[in-house]
Amino acid sequence: MLDLKKDFPIFKENPGLCFLDSGASAQKPSYVIDFVADFYRTTYANIHRGVYKQSWETTVLYDRAREKTAEFLGVEDVDSVIFTKNTTESINLVAYSFGETLTEGDEIIVSIMEHHANLVPWQMLAQRKKLKLKIAYVNKETLTLPIENITKLITDKTKLIALSMCSNVLGTISPFVEICKIANEKGIRVLLDGAQYMPHHKINFKELGINPDFVVFSGHKLCSFDGVGVLYGKREVLDKMQPFLTGGDMIESVSIEKTEFAPLPNKFEAGTPPIGAVISLLKAIEYLESVGLDKIEQHETMLAREAIKRLKEIEGVRVFAPENIKNGIVSFTIDGIHPHDIATILAEEKVCIRAGMHCAEPLITYLGQDSFARATFYLYNDLDDVEKLIKAVKRCKEVFKL
Ligand code: PLP
Repeated sequence: MLDLKKDFPIFKENPGLCFLDSGASAQKPSYVIDFVADFYRTTYANIHRGVYKQSWETTVLYDRAREKTAEFLGVEDVDSVIFTKNTTESINLVAYSFGETLTEGDEIIVSIMEHHANLVPWQMLAQRKKLKLKIAYVNKETLTLPIENITKLITDKTKLIALSMCSNVLGTISPFVEICKIANEKGIRVLLDGAQYMPHHKINFKELGINPDFVVFSGHKLCSFDGVGVLYGKREVLDKMQPFLTGGDMIESVSIEKTEFAPLPNKFEAGTPPIGAVISLLKAIEYLESVGLDKIEQHETMLAREAIKRLKEIEGVRVFAPENIKNGIVSFTIDGIHPHDIATILAEEKVCIRAGMHCAEPLITYLGQDSFARATFYLYNDLDDVEKLIKAVKRCKEVFKL
């Protein structure tokens, strides 16, 4: 069992805090905060442009963050790792730049359990370029995404499958490994939204024998500062794409008549990047690896399963999770109490959860609901947090006299 609250200053500053909202954004350990604060005090300068010590040392750290991120993903081509602002920007970059290579009648497959970040950009692209957007549905009973529900949508016109590795609402893990293999064989591109998967699981794409065309995730959900996201793309695909943003740092040469773009990764990193956030990502990955991602997965799974078991024992509580969940995501409702009221009453007990549509309105509607309460467990949570959640849920029922 992990015992890591002491590594995270937020818990010292807020005694009794029961933070169950890491699915939205994770807390930051001192290991990350102190390093970055120190970096700003002693070293900060813009990257790539200066020959002086501070600029050079900042550039070394920035480049090291890219190498570490490539190692973390288990990909060899370091320059195919692009830093963006977040998962949303990474997907928009692909929808805009890769999207330009698609033509009328081409088809894109997404699932019903996508976060809006992996739906709206494809919807907009489909409207702009007259493409067909197809939806793979989750099984309403098991809350899983059977692979046939995706493969039956594939036709000769399918150009891209954009799939969440893990649903931010249900905790359902999609069959992304098998889909990558099938798509690779058929020459279909795959984008994996790893926002809810990468922070919680050890994964090495090379060892798995798959090479997705794009993988995206956000630093802030894996204990880095906010403001940094990642887009890994296959070089052969990225090379054919036009830049998303243009300006400084992404050029080879500029004249009044024309511009030659810089090679990867600069081609997709126009302007001054979020330097401190990128460096915080390096430290966050180091921290998670020092704990062990396999241990993190085991720990949060244990907590979520205990929470699910205890929640189901309470009359009127419905949990929306597949069997044998393998992460810390627990969405639930209480008959007769709106999830926003649940979250408000829990907040009075310092139990921080989230309520609403979780940026997955089509999924929630498909499941016949209008909103869920969602508790998410991460490496710093413990059984005491489960206890507090259960106690607070019982209090909700008392407040509503149910
Ligand atoms: N995809 C999934 C599965 C998510 O859970 C989220 C955020 O919750 C996103 C994408 C968007 O991430 P960001 O807000 O960091 O861009």
